[in-house]
Amino acid sequence: MTDLPKELRATLSEQVVVATLKLESRYVSTDGTRRYLFRTHDNRPVETVFIPEERRDTICFSSQSGCPLQCTFCLTAQLGLLRNLTAGEIVEQIIFALNDAYGVGVKPPRGTNLVGMGAGEPFLNFEELMKGIRIIKEPRGLHIVPNRVTVSTAGIVPRIRELAKISDRPHLAVSLAAPTDELRDELMPINKKWPLEELLSACREFERSLKPNERMTFEYVMLAGVNDADEHARQLANLLNRHDLSAKVNLIPHNQAEPLPYRPSSTERVETFREILESKGVHAFVRRPRGRDILAACGQLAARSQALPLEIAKEVG
Ligand code: SAH
Repeated sequence: MTDLPKELRATLSEQVVVATLKLESRYVSTDGTRRYLFRTHDNRPVETVFIPEERRDTICFSSQSGCPLQCTFCLTAQLGLLRNLTAGEIVEQIIFALNDAYGVGVKPPRGTNLVGMGAGEPFLNFEELMKGIRIIKEPRGLHIVPNRVTVSTAGIVPRIRELAKISDRPHLAVSLAAPTDELRDELMPINKKWPLEELLSACREFERSLKPNERMTFEYVMLAGVNDADEHARQLANLLNRHDLSAKVNLIPHNQAEPLPYRPSSTERVETFREILESKGVHAFVRRPRGRDILAACGQLAARSQALPLEIAKEVG
């Protein structure tokens, strides 16, 4: 751009990157779920999932390329942290998925829910995440308000406390995976830094800041023979009740992915676990897995480029 002053051009080329995500592959599940694997300008993988649903479709976006946390049941952990995504890269994933689902610039007929549950730990990229959410809500742009967005954390306590003080904010989900520090230390090593007592008191503080009909969510991945016994359900209910938490619990049967050494709990086991929670006054729901066949389900995002059926997305974009 020779019409710009030379000095400005020099500053721009030093400080600004003008680039878009490049689509590497697009996978479509038998259940209609789509997984997009993008590359950033510096060749980092970014994955996004579009989940069609009866009432309102959901887009699951990533906040980091890879992830620094080492949850033993999650495939993303195997990548390690490659880097934080910029607000632009967060927004771009959503724009791409929207355009692919509804047509370029076409408004989703029933709105869209966004979930920050893809690769990475959103609360370790808090500023860019919140900036992305501010951009997304712009009425002249995507106009998706924070009330339609849910962000999931493995338990970065200071950021939960910070979010509690923000009024126009996304919904909060917290991944528990275990009802005791002993087991959680093993499954989610971040627990050694912020153990359950600290995490749940931050959640209690967050609940105090909720509007009357708002609720936060806990996620609990169900690993056969590891965290799915009756005793674990009782411990979990007691733990939440002791902290006076009214959050609901989403039970997520483990999505398998080689080489992770876990199996999902059986349907009956998940149901019994749910009933025990309910009998102790804890609302619990079972999440239906989506897109397992294309490695698009929770914990399966690891930039894998094999999965069937495969479509190289020449026509998309
Ligand atoms: N780092 C954030 C965002 C990831 S959200 C977090 O931990 O919350 C992904 C959700 O899927 C988390 O609740 C996580 O516990 C769960 N999960 C991870 N691996 C999984 C797997 N293989 N099967 C089912 N759920 C999994």
